Order: sequence, then structure tokens, then C-alpha cells
Amino acid sequence: MSVWDEVTGQPRAVAALRRAAAASRPGADDRQAFTNSWLITGPPGSGRSTAAYAFAAALLCPEGGCGECPSCAQVAARTHPDLTAVVTETTLLDIATARGLVERASLAPVSADHRVIVVEDADRMVARTSNTLLKAIEEPALTTVWVLCAPSEADLLPTIRSRVRTVALGVPAPDDVAELLVRRHGVDPALALRAAEEAQSHVGMAARLVTTPEAWERRERALEGMLGLRSAGEAVRKAAEWVAIADEDGKAVAADRDERERAELVRSLGLEPGAAPPRQLRPMFKDLEDHQKRRAKRAALDGVDRILTDAQSLWRDVLMRAVDAPVRLVNEARRPEIERAAERFGPQRALDSIGAISTARARLAVNVPPTLALEALLLEFAAD
Ligand SMILES: [Zn+2]
Repeated sequence: MSVWDEVTGQPRAVAALRRAAAASRPGADDRQAFTNSWLITGPPGSGRSTAAYAFAAALLCPEGGCGECPSCAQVAARTHPDLTAVVTETTLLDIATARGLVERASLAPVSADHRVIVVEDADRMVARTSNTLLKAIEEPALTTVWVLCAPSEADLLPTIRSRVRTVALGVPAPDDVAELLVRRHGVDPALALRAAEEAQSHVGMAARLVTTPEAWERRERALEGMLGLRSAGEAVRKAAEWVAIADEDGKAVAADRDERERAELVRSLGLEPGAAPPRQLRPMFKDLEDHQKRRAKRAALDGVDRILTDAQSLWRDVLMRAVDAPVRLVNEARRPEIERAAERFGPQRALDSIGAISTARARLAVNVPPTLALEALLLEFAAD
């Protein structure tokens, strides 16, 4: 076993990071394979942060990332004294956090050869924050390693971009994602493959489908009948159903995440799970709750976004069948209705429908109410 086993379907990136970790050791000959500032890019769900923490574990572990020693376990739990993990899920990385990081970056490691700073959403850094970090990234302490993660190089300021070495992740193959699901969750291989296909190789989404039957059922319900809408009435009813499903889905995702974050806070403060926090620590819990409340407002919209992603995959399948392309379908389980829709609509309508989904997304981005945006979209699907 090794920490790299978790980085699924990314052989080239893994090879580069492994080599770098080996070259980081004192006395290694391949010195130029290593540098102190890294950027890991890749589309959502490709495993950017998984790769970043595997790299961190490989740098900090005496065995180069065995996955079994106390050091590797501490990286997995994000409690290693020489690891700083910066996770800014919704908020922009603020200036105080950035200053704290720069200070941390100047310290010598406590127990390993390096100190590793992982910034999970480096694309959320604003210009001011980036400039604060710039100097530290440009001339890092010899023992400090920066690992930034972002969707693409273009998401970072050019000044930062030019100072990091980039490792790009691609979209993993569904088979690789399925293999990971089988290994991690012990699910049936055929089911794992279906989840990987339907999640379009988004590792987190695929894992959610196999571990949360309700989430999969919501996906099924959202797509049910979408290709067979025959009237304005049906379209309007379907839009109302989508809004309700998105709301349910958003709440379910938020509840899981809120719970996990609270448990992490309890653990990081060394408190007994389940016990009421002492008075002087209560502000920290209040901050977390406020943050979660602000984020809850976005939850339903994220749910709508997931439905649109799934709807788009279904029209993509229709298009593939309409032009008889020899590719695997994302929604193989819906092949009969996809074939019928390909026959009925043809490639141009399928393309137009995919375009209409982009339009709906653009409307939602400028705060058009979801019901309106989705009704307009589904009315187009239902048109003759
Ligand atoms: Zn280890």
C-alpha cells in the first residue's frame, strides 16, 4: 500500500510527484525533479486535493509515503505538525490567513525534513492575498514546500503562475474511478462503474452515489421523463419537481458537511465528541455556524447545478446516438429512451438543448429565480 493508491487514474501526475518527493531527500541525485513551489491543476472531481495530500505525505513520511506509518496517518487526519492545510470552501482566502501562512512558511519543520503548506483553493485568493504570499512562494525557505491547487493555471495571477511548477491532472477514466469505489467502499463492480459513468468521473460525486441511495434516487427522479415532455403543462410541472429535488439535495449535502465540519472542530480542539464546548470556545462554534448558515443559502442553487449537469449528460448521450458516435453512454441504463429521443429529435435539437442548458446556467448566475430559469429551459425541451 502507498499514499499514491488513492490518486486514481493519474499515472503521469503521480510519476512526476513521486519523482519530486524522492528528489527532495537530502543527498538525492535527481535534484532538479524537486522544487519548493507546486501547482496541481485539474477539473472538479479529478482529485486535486487528494494528489496534494499524497504528495505532502510522500514528502513527510520517512519511507516516502508508505501510507501506514504514524506520519502518513497524521497527514491523512490533517494533524501532522509539519503540514498546514488551507481549506477555504466558500470564503475567499483572506489577508489574515495569508499572513499567517507566510509566517508559518518561514519556520523550520518540527519532525520531518520539510514543512508542507497545501492551499486547496488557490484560485480563491484575491490579488491582495496573492501578493502577500508571492514573496514566500518566490523565495521559499529551503525546507518549506508550497502545494497550491486550482482548476487551471489561468485561475492564478500570472505573478504566482510563473513561480510554481505545474502538475496537471486529467479527467480519470470511469474504470479507474470504479476501481477506487470498489476498493474504498466495497461496492459491487458493476454498480461502481455505473456510478462512475453517471458522475462523469467526478470522484466525489460517484462516491456519493454509491454511498447515499437517496442521492442516486434523486438523480433518477430528476431525469425521469425529461426527454419525453409533450406539453407546456408537463414542462412546468417538471420544473417545479426539479426545484423541489434541488432543495432536498442541497439540504442533504449541507447537513452531511455541517456535521463533518463540527466534528472536525471538536477534534481539532481536543474536546470529547458529543460534549458541550466550554464557554471560552463557544465563539469558534458560533463562527462555524454563521459560516454554515451563509453557505446554506447557496445549497439549493448547487442542487440545481447538479441537476443541470445530469440533464446535460443525458442530452449529450442523445446527441451521440443521433450521430451514431461509437462512444460509451454516460446514462447507459437509459439507453432505450435515449435511442427513442435520438430518433425523435435528431442531432440539431440535441445540440440546441445543450445550448439551452448553458443559457439557463447563465441566467441563474445573474440571480434569475430558479423556477423561472428552469421553466424556460424545460419548455424548450417540450417544444415540437
Ligand atoms: Zn509513511
